[in-house]
Amino acid sequence: EYIIQNEQLLPKAEASINFEDRGYYFGDGIYEVIKVYHGQPFAMDHHLDRLRSSAEKLEIPLPFEEKKMIDLLMELLEKNKVMNGLVYFQVTRGVEPRNHLYTRNSTAVFTAFTQPAQNLEETQKNGVDVWLTDDIRWLRCDIKTINLLGNVMVKREAADQNCQEAILHRSGTITEGSSSNLFLVKDKVLYTHPATNLILNGITRQLVIELAEQHQYSVVEEPFPVEVLEHADEAFITSSSVEITPIKSVKGQLSTTFDVGPVTKDLQAKFKDILPKSN
Ligand code: PMP
Repeated sequence: EYIIQNEQLLPKAEASINFEDRGYYFGDGIYEVIKVYHGQPFAMDHHLDRLRSSAEKLEIPLPFEEKKMIDLLMELLEKNKVMNGLVYFQVTRGVEPRNHLYTRNSTAVFTAFTQPAQNLEETQKNGVDVWLTDDIRWLRCDIKTINLLGNVMVKREAADQNCQEAILHRSGTITEGSSSNLFLVKDKVLYTHPATNLILNGITRQLVIELAEQHQYSVVEEPFPVEVLEHADEAFITSSSVEITPIKSVKGQLSTTFDVGPVTKDLQAKFKDILPKSN
């Protein structure tokens, strides 16, 4: 199994991280996860655009050209023979003696690895249970940072309640999941939080909105209160890893159940259609 460290492909056992990497001290870095279907990365351009946007917001200088990044990632997929899986890649600000204040001339550190994909069959068909809890994260959730303590804390809380995902609200306004975006369906209209600083603008979210609109669904990108969950016809989460996964129950600060509805199923089918096919 190979990984990427800076511009090199190395056997995983040969990789080493510098003790003074700011990613390690401060979580000072950004990342992306791309799903791979039949050996082909899906929506790579979108992910690279978002990486660049995260980098700009944090003044992290990307270590090399996008073309180089793509070449390296493709080489890694081939080397690891990834057919259906994930490729994770991150850029930390680089190595400097520990100091909160960053300089603007560090050399960023690029790392990447691959993973097999989870089997989504059961959860996509029957849905998942989610745990409604407070959004305890910071106010720049639009940045895809590796600093994910708020996300990991609520994910653990959800799992301890036998839920697969935490759905978050800020003072009663639903934002998103701990590692996914949330959509509600009411009278065939889709509702999701707007892409502000309070959520990560998921690539899957963007593609689902596009698909829905192409197929004559209305999509309302507006904040809505938790109570709206109780009146929704359907609900689902989206992410690169779980695609479109229905919600079958909400527990915690509010309690409700959903059937896997026709709009969710329709969008799941339409989403499958745009995924890379075997060739
Ligand atoms: N929100 C958060 C907080 C996430 O971590 C993720 C997945 N990384 C998403 C939404 C979904 O994003 P995407 O569809 O780009 O995977």
